Amino acid sequence: MTVFVTNAGLQILARVTWRRAAILLTTDVARNMEGTPLVRVVHSPTLTLPIHRVVAIKHNAYRPYAGKTMESHASSQTILRRDQWICAYCEGPADTVDHIVPQSRGGASTFGNQVAACRSCNGFKADRTPREAGMAMRHAPFVHDPWAADQKEVWELFALGARTP
Ligand SMILES: [Zn+2]
Repeated sequence: MTVFVTNAGLQILARVTWRRAAILLTTDVARNMEGTPLVRVVHSPTLTLPIHRVVAIKHNAYRPYAGKTMESHASSQTILRRDQWICAYCEGPADTVDHIVPQSRGGASTFGNQVAACRSCNGFKADRTPREAGMAMRHAPFVHDPWAADQKEVWELFALGARTP
């Protein structure tokens, strides 16, 4: 079972194995969040180490995707993952990214200005807006946080744990 690593404010930073979590705990980098379920207890001749489902890094650590907006820069890989490699124009398999307002007209590589597109739609659209090219968009761009599901799970674990007597 994986262990969630968060910062002190319970913002998700990573998922790690219990072995990796044990290292974070024994080196004093992280501490157990006691209210969350116990994943396992590691025994050694000198140590009994409980490992909880959530461990929090002690020093300040910044969550990479927190606070992203439609104006934030997004890489092609991030956009393709967000759109699940589905073309925004024909819903076929996509492996390129289209700038809705073309880069040649100042369109930026942001969450709000990029969608996944197949090569054929991307090539047809070229240096035009979707309206100019007469192309309908099947899905709108949005801000994608790949950690959102894990973050939700962490909060749920913590809320559940906090209610346990
Ligand atoms: Zn397409």
